[in-house]
Amino acid sequence: MEEAPVSLQEMLRRALTAQVELGMGEMIVMREERYSGKEYSEERIQMVKKSPETVDMFGADKKIERAPQFDSLKAHYDAVCTCQLCHLGQTRTKFVYGVGSPEADVIFIGEAPGRDEDLQGEPFVGRAGQLLDRILAAMGLSREEVYIGNILKCRPPNNRDPLPEEAEKCLPHLLEQITLIRPKLICALGRIAGQILLKTTAPLGKLRGEWYEFEGVPLMVTYHPAALLRSPAYKKDLWADMQVLKKRLDELRMGQKT
Ligand code: URA
Repeated sequence: MEEAPVSLQEMLRRALTAQVELGMGEMIVMREERYSGKEYSEERIQMVKKSPETVDMFGADKKIERAPQFDSLKAHYDAVCTCQLCHLGQTRTKFVYGVGSPEADVIFIGEAPGRDEDLQGEPFVGRAGQLLDRILAAMGLSREEVYIGNILKCRPPNNRDPLPEEAEKCLPHLLEQITLIRPKLICALGRIAGQILLKTTAPLGKLRGEWYEFEGVPLMVTYHPAALLRSPAYKKDLWADMQVLKKRLDELRMGQKT
């Protein structure tokens, strides 16, 4: 069903609600120039930048028209939900596959399930997840229409960072999810997800503010919602990133219609 066009008033209401939700008392000016290198232009934002250190995790440093190995996310889930490719399979409570629409235009990728996610079998359901839901709502998106996943499907003990060998074993699962969903955009949440997907050791400050590419899909890196819970000062930058993401999403969706 065709969505009703959103009025200017409604757009303003959402933006202002977002600012309140994100705890900001001032108007945020979009920082598109950071994303485009200079003043925003349609042409520039279409350009997908690849960092010099970026190498494809899976061996091909170019766009891949990968064919999915499974017919559906459900079939894939059924095949991998008992995964024991790494030792985290022995300590998990639940395998945290991912949640959202199989036809999502955007995938948000965190690093790994935490305690709540391990218990419930769903990504981003704890405090960070609730904040992510509010961020999505402020963008006019819902948890049901996007897709949310993680680099790792199983919780690392004491929420430690994923080990390289764990990421290596688990990434093919995420890759198949991305291949099946074929999103228009990917948003890596936090330094760890960004570094692993882009195979770089660059700090978050360097990773933010550029468009990259993962498996032919434009990817941006922003703060992990948990970082905002620890340091509310980051909210402003995250909101600027989300505005850039939403704008690009809207443009891609519009382009598809014409
Ligand atoms: N943090 C993450 O990176 N992923 C989750 O699913 C929850 C918290």
